[in-house]
Amino acid sequence: MGDYSDSDEETPEWCSCEECEDMQAPEENLCCHNHNCMLKNMNYYSVDCITSHPAFQMVVLDPFVLETAYYSYRTSKYRRGKLSTGELR
Ligand SMILES: [Zn+2]
Ligand SMILES: [Zn+2]
Repeated sequence: MGDYSDSDEETPEWCSCEECEDMQAPEENLCCHNHNCMLKNMNYYSVDCITSHPAFQMVVLDPFVLETAYYSYRTSKYRRGKLSTGELR
């Protein structure tokens, strides 16, 4: 009958992508649409939310990869030299 509702959850009013949830900490109540760099990436892949971004999904599948990505991000802020890659063993 065209009656479509997948859950009782409502999107918070600060959210534009309709994928966010209310966090306990107010400073975490940020929609991915609030971040210009994410927004660019999302437009590039034609996704509405950063959590639908192919790269994001690859990262969140593996907590270890997420951690590695986070640390390499921080490191690259200090050292802008070449990254050594391919030597994981
Ligand atoms: Zn959102
Ligand atoms: Zn989002």
